[in-house]
Parts: sequence; structure tokens; C-alpha cells
Amino acid sequence: MKVILASQNQHKLVELSAILSQLGFEIALESEYGLHVDVDETGTTFEENSRLKAEVVMRAANMPAVADDSGLMVDALDGAPGVYSARYCGRHGDDEANNVKLLAELEDLEPDKRSACFVSAVCFCLPDGRHFTYMGRCPGWVGLEPVGENGFGYDPVFQPDGYACSMAELRPEEKNAISHRGNALKI
Ligand code: IMP
Repeated sequence: MKVILASQNQHKLVELSAILSQLGFEIALESEYGLHVDVDETGTTFEENSRLKAEVVMRAANMPAVADDSGLMVDALDGAPGVYSARYCGRHGDDEANNVKLLAELEDLEPDKRSACFVSAVCFCLPDGRHFTYMGRCPGWVGLEPVGENGFGYDPVFQPDGYACSMAELRPEEKNAISHRGNALKI
């Protein structure tokens, strides 16, 4: 099936393309259809926001669309940054500022109190009105400082359970095999 990726986030495009093409989907980008849809993420859950994004792009292109909404939920912060992850710092897309803020808020906590979980909702919307949402999680903890050059967002400060390194130290295919987006699409 040919499916259009509803995203402006280059990192997610790369990740989702790699995962979906392994599942046999033929991937199209918004740009191939002259689209650049900026969706207001007004939902209060990952599920709602992923559906908002996929639905707008599906209607604009009149073809199946897939979108992700994701974030890092930190136990010591009652689930923040949560669904508003990208706005956590008040500066949309400022990964470094988000990481600095997160580390400052957890400053005095020992590793066993720094548990967190990456969460992703991946929603497919079809032109016939059907939609399917898959949730994926990747549990771990927030490290003491940013490490690694790969990835984006909170990857440098997130240590997946069972790994002695940050998400940003993994190769892309290693990350995709355990990530929240990868887990959402595991069958
Ligand atoms: P969105 O673009 O509104 O979905 O917000 C996603 C935000 O959650 C990003 O800006 C990142 O801060 C964070 N996030 C989601 N997925 C990942 C990931 O795989 N690695 C690192 N950060 C992520």
C-alpha cells in the first residue's frame, strides 16, 4: 500500500520510512504531493494528536496517511514532558533547551528515581474513513548528562532499559529495533 507520511519532522520521517518500508509499505512524502501541512496539535493525548495529523494529510492528498505523535514521559515529573513534549521548554523544536530543562529538574535524583518512558502513537487514516492507531513504548531512565551524536530530541539523555548507553549512541537500525515507534509497528 502506498502511504503518505504526515510529518515535517525530518528525524521521524527517516525513522518511520525505514520501519514502514520493512513492513512492505510504499512511502510517499508530503512534498511529493506539493503539501506542507502544519497541523495544530490541539489534542491532549498522543492518540488524538497523531490522528489529527494523519487525518488532515489524508484528506489533503486523498490517499492513506500515517502520522506519529510521541514524547518522553518522566515518572518523577508525573508524566511530563508528556504529550506536550515539543513545547516543554516553551521553544518548539529546541532540543538542547528541552534537555537542559529536564536535567535541571531531575538534578538531585539518583538513577533509580529517574525512570521514564518514550511513548508513541502511530495512526493510519484511510480515505474510506477507517483509522487505526498503534501505541508503542520504550522504557528506560534519564541519564545524568547528554551523551551521543545520533538521534534527536531527548535521545542523548535517555538510556533504554537493558542498554549501558544513551539512545543517541545507538545506530539508527539499533534504535528502530527497540524504539517507541518501532514497538508501535511491531507485528
Ligand atoms: P512532536 O513533534 O510534537 O510529536 O513532539 C515530539 C517531541 O518528543 C520531540 O520534539 C522530542 O523532544 C520528543 N521525542 C519524540 N520521539 C523522540 C525520539 O525518538 N527521540 C527523542 N525525542 C523524541
